[in-house]
Amino acid sequence: MLQVSPVRAFSDNYIWLVRAPADPAAAVVVDPGDDRPVEEALDEQGLRLRAILVTHHHADHVGGVGALAARHGAAVFGPAREQMPCDARALDDGGKVSLEHLGLDFAVIAVPGHTLGHIAYVGHGALFCGDTLFSGGCGRLFEGTPTQMLDSLDRLAALPDDTAIYCAHEYTLSNLRFAAAVEPDNTTIREALTEVTSKRERGEITLPSTLGRERHINPFLRCRIPSVRAAAERHAGRSLPSATDVFAEVRSWKNGFR
Ligand SMILES: [Zn+2]
Repeated sequence: MLQVSPVRAFSDNYIWLVRAPADPAAAVVVDPGDDRPVEEALDEQGLRLRAILVTHHHADHVGGVGALAARHGAAVFGPAREQMPCDARALDDGGKVSLEHLGLDFAVIAVPGHTLGHIAYVGHGALFCGDTLFSGGCGRLFEGTPTQMLDSLDRLAALPDDTAIYCAHEYTLSNLRFAAAVEPDNTTIREALTEVTSKRERGEITLPSTLGRERHINPFLRCRIPSVRAAAERHAGRSLPSATDVFAEVRSWKNGFR
């Protein structure tokens, strides 16, 4: 198992710090939107930064990339179809990040929807999915279509149940409140909501999740479940023949949900 720890940034971002299995003094970070908390974490743990993985171009994911890359000489990897703040190795679907000297290997999956060039990194039983999949939710569609996002989520959902999900924001509590509104009779969601509510009251992180858990609690992975379709149809006031129609309705329902 990978050793991964969260670095908190802004109000609810997590920058993931991955220890290199083959070099105890080295680390990799994912989506450093701010360089300062990363520097603090590296100092505290006595680590050198060797590589930076980026999932998409939003400022809260790339804001610290340039400074960290310059200061540490770390290799930067990012999506081929998006503008990166500095020289980066361009990755697209089917690409690989092979950091042999660190003992790290990730496969790249294209997951357009939140942004058009968004990529995810999967390896060592872990998924770094940026703003595509959240615990109990998914990213907003800033650039892509519902069809693209549902395809992307389907690709992530094809990973094994025990895959650890490292998403980039602490949105779990508000996501589960919404999930409970979509499926009020789902006891797994209700139990998860109780558990996550106490964790957040104690200021604890709710991540990583697992894909197996998300399959049971995340309405956006459950668009083909009859109770989710029925709830979406009630909300829409019309029939929703395809999974994409259900997904689009649930996504727009969530956008206005408070
Ligand atoms: Zn984003």
